[in-house]
Amino acid sequence: MARYTGPVCRLCRREKMKLFLKGPKCDTMKCPIERRPYPPGEQGRGRIRESEYLLQLREKQKARRIYGVLEKQFHNLYEEADRQQGITGENLLRMLEQRLDNVVFRAGWGASRNQARQFVRHGHVNVNGRRVTIPSYQVRKGDVVELRDKAKGMIVIRHNLDTLDRMTPPWLEKDGDFKVTVYDLPLREHIDVPVRESLIVELYSK
Ligand code: SF4
Repeated sequence: MARYTGPVCRLCRREKMKLFLKGPKCDTMKCPIERRPYPPGEQGRGRIRESEYLLQLREKQKARRIYGVLEKQFHNLYEEADRQQGITGENLLRMLEQRLDNVVFRAGWGASRNQARQFVRHGHVNVNGRRVTIPSYQVRKGDVVELRDKAKGMIVIRHNLDTLDRMTPPWLEKDGDFKVTVYDLPLREHIDVPVRESLIVELYSK
């Protein structure tokens, strides 16, 4: 699956907020948002007319960028969320959280979702004892996600575990450093991303 390979900090600047896409750099003064909290490009500091559509579009882009999902895949997820019972926006966010790369990130193994995605792609992660290399794989209730033996000794992962000190969300149960169980499906209040999902639903249901 293709992915965005351009400058990452530009994405945050476009949304005028930190999306925490780069791991440790995001918490330092090196973060470009600290110095240039306005959109990139020549017109970045100009006045932009805020329309309803623009607000909806920005919210959708923000969600896509936080989870590192391309447009087509995101739209497919929305359609699936719409088919499910319950509130479409919440279904959408829940499905984004259920991505395997996000679980690896939430477990504190990856400094960013991008790095977590790479760990999955490189075959460092098992789900229920079997290697899974698809970052968009949807974990389900009861699934056991574990790092493979080689990954347990990787300096980058050990470093992340020692330095990130990331809180495990209530829907994941950590068993030691290298294993998490999907205790339950995530509820909206457990998803701490700054996205107003109702605006995304409004955008797609036009
Ligand atoms: Fe975004 Fe992190 Fe870059 Fe700051 S350092 S702009 S939070 S990706």
